[in-house]
Amino acid sequence: MISARIVKTNSPLKVENLEQPKPIHSQVLVRVKAAGICHSDLHLWEGGYLGAGGKFMKVEDRGVRFPLTPGHEIAGTVEETGEAVEYFQKGDKVLVYPWIGDQICLSCKSGDEHLCDSPKTLGIYQDGGYSDFILVPHYKYLLKLDQNDFDSAASLACSGLTSYTAIKKASASPGDNLVIIGAGGLGLMAVQVAKKITNSNIIVVDVDNKKLDEAIKLGADEVINSKEVDPVKNIKDLSGGTGCEIVVDFVNNNITSKFAIDSLRKRGKYIMVGLFGGSLELNLPLVPLRAFNITGAYTGRFTDLIELVELYKKGKINSVVSKKYKIDDANQALEDLKNRKIIGRAVFNP
Ligand code: NAD
Repeated sequence: MISARIVKTNSPLKVENLEQPKPIHSQVLVRVKAAGICHSDLHLWEGGYLGAGGKFMKVEDRGVRFPLTPGHEIAGTVEETGEAVEYFQKGDKVLVYPWIGDQICLSCKSGDEHLCDSPKTLGIYQDGGYSDFILVPHYKYLLKLDQNDFDSAASLACSGLTSYTAIKKASASPGDNLVIIGAGGLGLMAVQVAKKITNSNIIVVDVDNKKLDEAIKLGADEVINSKEVDPVKNIKDLSGGTGCEIVVDFVNNNITSKFAIDSLRKRGKYIMVGLFGGSLELNLPLVPLRAFNITGAYTGRFTDLIELVELYKKGKINSVVSKKYKIDDANQALEDLKNRKIIGRAVFNP
């Protein structure tokens, strides 16, 4: 099989011919039809995240080992099944849940496998979908699809799921001002989810007008280009002068976290999702005085993915897929994402 692999961080991905795995027991070999290209793949390629004080947090210190085939947003067809596999057979169209845990920690046991203490995520801790085949360790991580649109289904597994759980976590009340920062793969999905499951006033902030135009098409009520105008003043003006009730930040760097906090009204909720990184200096007395709620959100449960796929099957949400690449063009694809040339998501079609 052909896979695009990170052999060394910050060096070109290598397209390699690897031996095709043979599924045993409950394993399933999936023929990849589409693999979404997530900004988290870029962080992996760059080797980590920017932490506090400009310190770099290496993914290798967090258990990632190279060479690695990235890609955690995978849709395809069942190619071959192990002898213990039930319910799935060759040719079935499937979406892969990549957030695999160790099954034994408390998070896994309580259904939060995506928050496992020793994660085994496909495309991060074991080989993923930048390939024409992927070995899925158990058929329980597959969800059946009934359409042939693999390109739009693939990113449900991360950009869709992460946005869905973050917006659910926001628990927006009708009329709340819900600010979404970053109208990329995740943010554009979040706009659609917020439109479907909340009755809030959706305000989207980005630095790129093309992405803001797309947000409007998908249902954003207001958009703000934070490079052109003061985001705090504009968010406050759009939310009655007092500030907004909720910010979901799909960038989460030292610029966005600062204006997110400054835009919140008393009792406001700030949900950090993005991994762009940096640090935030907090004016500590203001946290109790204004009774903020600051929290993080990381992908989601398998059961949340089931709910999301139902919304997708009913046509209530859809991924914005603007560009398609072959595996051989893996380096170009990541460069294009880095240079902000992608609207919504790009996918690989092996
Ligand atoms: P993307 O590259 O598709 O989109 C990023 C968007 O942010 C772009 O539209 C860009 O113009 C905008 N942006 C960049 N800097 C900005 C700024 N200062 N102010 C406003 N907008 C700005 O990325 P994505 O795939 O949507 O991922 C977003 C982030 O979320 C990444 O860091 C990714 O690693 C992370 N992520 C987190 C989770 C999680 O579970 N917490 C899951 C997946 C991805």
